[in-house]
Amino acid sequence: MASIFTKIINGEIPCYKIAENEHYFAFLDINPIAEGHTLVIPKKEVDYIFDLDEETLQGLITFAKKVARTIDGSLNPIRTGVIVEGLEVPHAHVHLIPIYTEHQPVALGHKIEVTKERMAEIAGIISEAFSE
Ligand code: 5GP
Repeated sequence: MASIFTKIINGEIPCYKIAENEHYFAFLDINPIAEGHTLVIPKKEVDYIFDLDEETLQGLITFAKKVARTIDGSLNPIRTGVIVEGLEVPHAHVHLIPIYTEHQPVALGHKIEVTKERMAEIAGIISEAFSE
C-alpha cells in the first residue's frame, strides 16, 4: 500500500506544498514544531533513509539544502535545523526546522499551534521564494 507521503505526492491527500522536482518533494509538516517546519522526501518510496541508493540520498540532501536556504532567506530564522527520525511514516523524510530563537525547543513532538491560514501563508512565502 502506498505511504501517506506517496499519496501526498500524487495529490490524493492535500498538503501545503513548498517545492517539487522530478525526484523530490517538499511540504509543510501538518504538526509543526516551528512555523515553516518542512518535510523533504524522495518520490521513490523507501522506508529507511539509509536504505536509499547513493544517488537518491545525495540528491535528497542537495534538494533539502535548497529548501533550507530558501527558508533561511524567506522566513529569516537564525538557521534551519535538520532532524531525521522516521519512526512514524515509513517513507524516508528529512525534517527542516527553522530556529528563530536560541532557546526554541527543537524536538519532534514539541508541537505548536499554527492556523490553516498561517500554514497557507507560510507555504506561499517559501514556495514563491524557491527556485532550483
Ligand atoms: P517521523 O516519521 O520522522 O517521526 O515524522 C513524521 C512526520 O510526518 C510527523 O512530524 C507528522 O506530523 C508528519 N505527518 C504525518 N502525516 C502527515 C500528513 O498527512 N501530512 C503532513 N503534511 N505531515 C504529516
